Amino acid sequence: MTPVEERLRRRIALTGPLSVADYMAACVADPDGYYARQKPFGVEGDFVTAPEISQMFGELIGAFLTDRWQADGAPSPVDLCELGPGRGTLMADALSVMGRAEDLLSASRLVLVEVSDKLAALQRQRLAPLHPRLSFAARPPEGRPLYLVANEFFDALPIRQFVSREGRWFERTVGLVDGALAFGLSPFPSPLKAEAPDGAVKEVCPAAEALVAEIARTLVAAQKGAALIVDYGHTGGAGSETLQAVRDHRPVGVLEAPGAVDLSAHVDFSALAAAARREGAFVHGPVGQGTFLLALGLLERAGALGASASAHERQAIEAAVHRLAGEGAGEMGTLFKVICITPGATPPPGF
Ligand code: SAH
Repeated sequence: MTPVEERLRRRIALTGPLSVADYMAACVADPDGYYARQKPFGVEGDFVTAPEISQMFGELIGAFLTDRWQADGAPSPVDLCELGPGRGTLMADALSVMGRAEDLLSASRLVLVEVSDKLAALQRQRLAPLHPRLSFAARPPEGRPLYLVANEFFDALPIRQFVSREGRWFERTVGLVDGALAFGLSPFPSPLKAEAPDGAVKEVCPAAEALVAEIARTLVAAQKGAALIVDYGHTGGAGSETLQAVRDHRPVGVLEAPGAVDLSAHVDFSALAAAARREGAFVHGPVGQGTFLLALGLLERAGALGASASAHERQAIEAAVHRLAGEGAGEMGTLFKVICITPGATPPPGF
């Protein structure tokens, strides 16, 4: 039994069943939780993310943010922010591009939002040499023009699940049956009427909506800046539940080995967009990650990298292009989607 499961069982025995959101949060935030592990991502980890596939991903995002900053008239000072930076790879590659474009480095603070102490230490080690003003915060910064990116961050935020029963929504819980973790249903129906068939599952992510609302408020207040969100997800009505657990690149049970498996859910881009629009911001997309990266010049960047590379390296670059932008099985081009939140109506490049 994992240490996280031991603590969860004791907690449930004392205080009763948890919501799915509380269960997810406990698996992530526990000192022995998932992101405290040595190698969550990468080939040796449980899953591989786009910035870990190729430097081109972070470079193109760096170019995108630089372009937005220049389009805003190169304001100073501004905040550059990443949510859930993982191993710091995306930001390292983005900063390598920003360093070339005059002054976004000197105009900005770099603020990282990271829940795991272990990953934060890694991010500091990697990024402090690349940016003169690096800090960590629990929430995205406010009060300045904000240039923000989040890749595979929102899918990790805790969701609540509601199950339809005879016209009412009941919240799904995690409790104990014969001493083992098991799903259940809250005995109290939510006040929302369910027009879905019995057994249908509705997922909401209040943490994501609140965060997007904060970001949108900051963008609208400054009337400058942009927030780029990349993730796998849908635009409303996932139809079925999407909460999943992954270990060693394979799906496992959600209640299996809490804290030792990656838990995530598909991002509801419509809900995020609605939260941003309520604050007066504009939302562009979602577009497929492939469409976005190709519009930003993925092929040109690959060509430039390949020009000075060996035949073997060229093959790897080509494989990375397919993996990032392709539409086939195991490729990220359409599975992953991108939205951009801005204070103005003009669509940014790539949308
Ligand atoms: N963006 C990186 C890592 C993605 S994994 C990449 O693309 O490779 C998710 C990241 O979000 C990890 O860094 C994880 O520790 C962080 N994270 C997860 N939940 C979080 C939360 N509630 N608050 C802050 N960071 C969180």
